[in-house]
Amino acid sequence: MKAPLRSVVRSTGLCALLVLLALTVHPQRRFQSPVERSGFTRLTSCDTLQAFLETLDGKGRCTVRRIAQTHKGRSVSSVLVTSSPRFGDDTLKLRVMLFAQQHGDEPAGKEALTLLLARIAGLDLDRLLSRIDLIIVPQMNPDGAELRQRRTADDVDLNRNHLLLTSPETRGLHDLFDMWWPEVTMDIHEYGTYSRAWSDSGFVKSADVQLGMLTNLNSSGALRSYERDSVFPFISTVMQKSGYSFHEYIVGSPADYIRYSTTEPNDGRQSFGILNTLSFIQEGRGGRELEEGLERRASSQCVSIEALLAFCAGHSTEIRSLVARERRAIAAGRGLPVILCMDHFPGGREMIIPVRRVPSGTDTVWQVHPLRDRVKPLSARTLPAAYIVPGELAGVGAILDRNHVRREIVSDPRPVEAVAYVIERVQPDTLEDEWHPKPTLRAEKIQRLLHRGDVVVRTDQTRSLFLAVLLEPESMWGLVKYNGFSSLLQGKEYPILRIP
Ligand SMILES: [Zn+2]
Repeated sequence: MKAPLRSVVRSTGLCALLVLLALTVHPQRRFQSPVERSGFTRLTSCDTLQAFLETLDGKGRCTVRRIAQTHKGRSVSSVLVTSSPRFGDDTLKLRVMLFAQQHGDEPAGKEALTLLLARIAGLDLDRLLSRIDLIIVPQMNPDGAELRQRRTADDVDLNRNHLLLTSPETRGLHDLFDMWWPEVTMDIHEYGTYSRAWSDSGFVKSADVQLGMLTNLNSSGALRSYERDSVFPFISTVMQKSGYSFHEYIVGSPADYIRYSTTEPNDGRQSFGILNTLSFIQEGRGGRELEEGLERRASSQCVSIEALLAFCAGHSTEIRSLVARERRAIAAGRGLPVILCMDHFPGGREMIIPVRRVPSGTDTVWQVHPLRDRVKPLSARTLPAAYIVPGELAGVGAILDRNHVRREIVSDPRPVEAVAYVIERVQPDTLEDEWHPKPTLRAEKIQRLLHRGDVVVRTDQTRSLFLAVLLEPESMWGLVKYNGFSSLLQGKEYPILRIP
């Protein structure tokens, strides 16, 4: 049946008006990410993401490269974004690396990065790109994402795999980092909102986004202050103006205690932080189902990410020189203090966060209590000039290799003066709610003959503090707590030596 003419005219006119409105209100909508095209009803699958990235590759600002192949044969892709002729050409630009979905059941960060990529493709972020080059890895864990689970298909928590780098996904990310040494990184996650530990207290956290800063005391104090005093307030203001609730990332529950999240250098934030990178973790509010409220979850994360980029573009020179200075300082090596154990204590800060009452669902605020907001050192050593790793500890050598540690393989045997740790006893200890072995040691000066194949690792490199955290037997995050390395503490003497 033909439609009456007047109604066709009216509907055509209405269509044009809607198109005009769309162009006026959203001139950037020339490019849309897959999740936008679905009206935020469908998560972007791994295949759809790859197809979307292919449409960006080689056009305008983006170059797409595979950085890893997963257990199930899927690609982990990176996008290098620059307005220069080639990525990295302009050494005055700040480099920022963003990566998301290490946990497969936290998809909104990936969607936020696809929104960002669509805006980049629409040339909406060119003002920022005049000051920064961007490295984007939208989906670290495609296998976990397809299985809608936290871990990879071979059961690895990628965000606890940044020290040993046994998974191709984390190895690919650290290879990428080592290629470009970005000054700023952000690891993007989602937090669960419905845990029993919270709801039993009568309310749950409800912020759209929580932002975590560096907490490990080995990362530069200047960088930690800069994050807290300069970057965080800027992003917080943008989020408030955009109508999103936002606060600092906290873990724990009112029934127990609340602290900033882990100091563990084995995760995506602190592993780059200990190389004196201005590093962050972002935690968006998760859904009860993975698709629930997806538009707000992805959009709020994208606004916070863009606020970080805007801050970086506005302070690019300042951040570049700050990070360069702090990286030079740790490359001095010998004599620097390294904190091997630390924990969280009440520090007297006040913190008020948005929460939702359960079961009524009404919004209110809560003054965080008890808050352990200060990280304090519990034990420390000074950095030696070098570590000696016996050649037969091939597993340790492989970890150093994967972490791009500069080292010398001994070819001609020679004597050295070294310090050995004599192990008196080992007891279990718990810090940050995690078990680790706590040895009692005596340092002893010795003469030792270096054999062919032994590894000498000098500490005059940017990975100096990383080395100490990994190799010192008293380190709460050291090798000795991992499967396959506990035998390092079982002899009379710790086999890795120090050259003072
Ligand atoms: Zn996560």
